[in-house]
Amino acid sequence: MRSVKAVLRRLVARGEAFLKGAAFDCRACGQCILPRTGLICPMSCPKGLRNGPCGGTIGGMCEVYPDKECVWVRIHRRTGGTIGEVPVLNPSPDSALFFTSSYANRFTGLDRPGTTPLRYLDLPADQFEGPAATRSRLEAALRSGRFVKTCEVRSPRNADLGRLAREIEHIRGHFDAVNATAYLNGKPSLPAARTCAELLRFGVEPVCQLTCRDQTKTSFVSELIANDANGIHNVLCLTGDSYAGNPRIKQVFDMDSSLMVYEARHLRETGVIHFTGEAVKAPPRPFIGVAINPFSTPPEMPIRRLMQKAAAGADFVQTQLVFNLPAFEAFMRRYCDAGLHRRLFLLAGVPVVISKSAMEMIPRVPGVDYPPEVRRRLEGAADLRAEGCRLARETIDAVSRMPGVRGVHLMLFGADHSVLPDVAAGF
Ligand code: SF4
Repeated sequence: MRSVKAVLRRLVARGEAFLKGAAFDCRACGQCILPRTGLICPMSCPKGLRNGPCGGTIGGMCEVYPDKECVWVRIHRRTGGTIGEVPVLNPSPDSALFFTSSYANRFTGLDRPGTTPLRYLDLPADQFEGPAATRSRLEAALRSGRFVKTCEVRSPRNADLGRLAREIEHIRGHFDAVNATAYLNGKPSLPAARTCAELLRFGVEPVCQLTCRDQTKTSFVSELIANDANGIHNVLCLTGDSYAGNPRIKQVFDMDSSLMVYEARHLRETGVIHFTGEAVKAPPRPFIGVAINPFSTPPEMPIRRLMQKAAAGADFVQTQLVFNLPAFEAFMRRYCDAGLHRRLFLLAGVPVVISKSAMEMIPRVPGVDYPPEVRRRLEGAADLRAEGCRLARETIDAVSRMPGVRGVHLMLFGADHSVLPDVAAGF
C-alpha cells in the first residue's frame, strides 16, 4: 500500500502543476527557475531549452510552431536582456524530478543541482593570445590570421559512399576544414563521425557536427572520446532543427548547445567529465564550435547567446546563412562592440545556390532571413548556377571586409560540389 507521505507528495505535485500550469504554462519539471526567466517557463519551449533560443527563431517566432512567439524572445523581452553582462548558464534539469513539486524540492534541496547556475571556467579574455590549445588544423589556420574557408558535406543516408567520395574529391585541397552533417532534419544517416573518417581518409580536416536533439550527455562525451581516438579534432555543437513534425520520435535535449560546449570545454581544461565528476586520463581536446543566427530578434538576443557560449568555452562560431548583408553588418558591429571578436573566431555562413529545387527550399530553412530582392534575383536568373555562384562571391567579398569576420563557411544548395573551389578562390 502506498504510504500517506507518497500520496501527499503526489497531491501537492498535482496541485502545483495545475495552478502553475494555468498561471505560467508550467511543464512540471520540479526544478523551477521562473524567477530567473521573467516568470515565463523555459520548459514551454518545444525543445525545453533553459539557456536561450535555438537558431530556428526568426521574426520573433518559434521554429517548431511558427504561429507562436518564441519563448526565449518573450523571456528576453521580460528580463530586459542587454549586452551588459554574460547571461547565467543554467544546468539541465534532473529528469528524476519531473512531475514532482518544485516547492517540496526547494525545501529539501533536491532541486539544487538543476537550479544552481554553473560556474564558468576561468578562460582567457583574449582567446587569440598564446599557442594553439588543440591539435586541430582548423584552429591552426584561424590562428595564422589568414582568411579561412570551410564548407560541408551531407552524411549519406545509406552505406554507399561513392557519392560522398566524389564530393570530397571536388573540394579536397581547397578548404581548411569540411563539416560533416549530423542526421539532418532528424532523419537517419551515416553518423557524422563516420563521414568525418571518410574526410580524413582523403586528407581533409573534418568538423564533426553533433546535436543535443540526438545526444545524451553520455553519448556526447563518448563521441568526443571516439573522435579523439579517430583523429577528429573539431566538434560543432548544435541544437538541431525540429523533426519536421514527426511526433513519434523522441528528441533528447538532455542538454542545450551551451551545455554541450561546457561539457566539452570542461573536459578539455580539467580532464574531468563535468556531469559525472570522473577524471579521464588523456582527455579529448576538441576545438569547439557553435552556431548562431545573427538575424534573430531582438538584436541583442543573439549577442547575449554568443556571450554565453563563449563563456561556456566555445572557440569558433559558424553563422546562419547570410542573404541579408546590411543586417549581418549590423550584427557584426554589435558583435565587435561586445568584445566577441577577441573571444571567438567567426565564420560567416555563405549560401551557394545552384539548383532550382534546392532554391525552393530556402524559405523553409529554419531561421533564414531571405530578403525579397535576393529571392527575386535568384528566382529570375536565366542561369541560376552562374547567378548563385556570383551572389556567393559577392557575399564573401562583402563579409571579408567586415571587422571580426575570420572566414567563411560555404553551404551548397544543390548537388554539385565542383562549383565550390571556384566560388572560394581568390579570397
Ligand atoms: S521551470 Fe519547471 S517548475 Fe518552473 S514553471 Fe517551468 S516547468 Fe514548472
